[in-house]
Amino acid sequence: MLEKLPDLATLEQRVEDIQEQLNQPYSLGDETFNTTASIGIALSDSKYKSADEILRDADTAMYEAKKQGRGKSIIFQEGMHTNVVNMVRMERDLRIALEKQQFCLYYQPIISLENYTTVALEALVRWIHPEQGMIRPDLFIPLTEETGLIKELGLWVFETACFQLRQWQMQFPHHAELGMNINMSPIQFKQPHLINLIQDIIEKSGIKGSTCRVEITENAMMQDPEAALTILNELKNLELLLYIDDFGTGYSSLSYLQRFPIDALKIDRSFIKDIDTSGKSAQIADAIIALGEAFGLRIVAEGVENEQQASILKLANCHHVQGYFFSRPQDAKSLEEYLNIERHQIAETSLN
Ligand code: C2E
Ligand code: CA
Ligand code: CA
Repeated sequence: MLEKLPDLATLEQRVEDIQEQLNQPYSLGDETFNTTASIGIALSDSKYKSADEILRDADTAMYEAKKQGRGKSIIFQEGMHTNVVNMVRMERDLRIALEKQQFCLYYQPIISLENYTTVALEALVRWIHPEQGMIRPDLFIPLTEETGLIKELGLWVFETACFQLRQWQMQFPHHAELGMNINMSPIQFKQPHLINLIQDIIEKSGIKGSTCRVEITENAMMQDPEAALTILNELKNLELLLYIDDFGTGYSSLSYLQRFPIDALKIDRSFIKDIDTSGKSAQIADAIIALGEAFGLRIVAEGVENEQQASILKLANCHHVQGYFFSRPQDAKSLEEYLNIERHQIAETSLN
């Protein structure tokens, strides 16, 4: 409770003071930690009839602040309630969607720069909403993480992707070792028996563990490094490969490259986007590739949209690429068609 504040500038100053106090580093064991706080503020005025109402609005503003990243503070405004109402509606719809199986997977090829053939696919989830049509994951994954629904959805993705992979591995003999990359949220690390559930899926689907790859972001690992390390080691015991997603965009110390059992880095799209026009981006990509070489990691470049970007990456010794230039993510039926065409092309080249 801040009483008798003369103006908003004073309020801002007080909020900064609170943040600064909370940001003081502290030690636990041998490690140093920092805490940040998301702050929601409600300005008391005559419209409020009870303390509960003020707290409710401050709480709403806090969720807004959380959405904008770490350590933000936000003053409540009318209209935020409609956001909350929309969120509540979406959460309800997501639960129904899980029950009614309204999700589907799209697959995007990952291509080897050595021979330009598909070596793996990334499974990307879509929500086929009965009224709104196809909804992209960026719009609903965060809410499934907040509500814990990601645990159920994540398992569905795992199961669907692994069984689909097995089918294609058998259908296309030259793709017996085709890989499947699956995105995992850090919330799933806390799921009880996650490893047993994944092991079960791998065994039932009949794929080799090594053809299944899990993608996680640096930030996801750093949220709770110990929990992440345990899970990642257990995934390695199942012979799955571990990919760091969006590499270069998170904030973390590189020491985790030594500590964590990582197999590959995916260079984030933001560095590839102007690799053909900006020297800086090309240097960052080069540096990541060199880092990968030093640590014996496979390097995948994301978001390759034109031929020039692909040839720059090939010259730089990048191993794999993924992006609209090669193929957009496609539903299972179109992807099967794509693999079929590729099979004929491979057959033709080997005849020539
Ligand atoms: P991501 O893992 O970084 O996936 C790559 C995103 O980049 C995909 O967006 C893909 O469609 C897009 N993309 C691929 N190539 C290009 C390109 O050349 N240019 C451009 N501009 N974009 C390209 P999408 O499918 O909308 O997925 C967005 C994010 O949602 C993913 O980012 C991932 O973080 C998350 N996501 C998707 N599926 C799942 C899932 O099953 N579980 C979890 N936890 N997250 C998922
Ligand atoms: Ca990914
Ligand atoms: Ca990515």
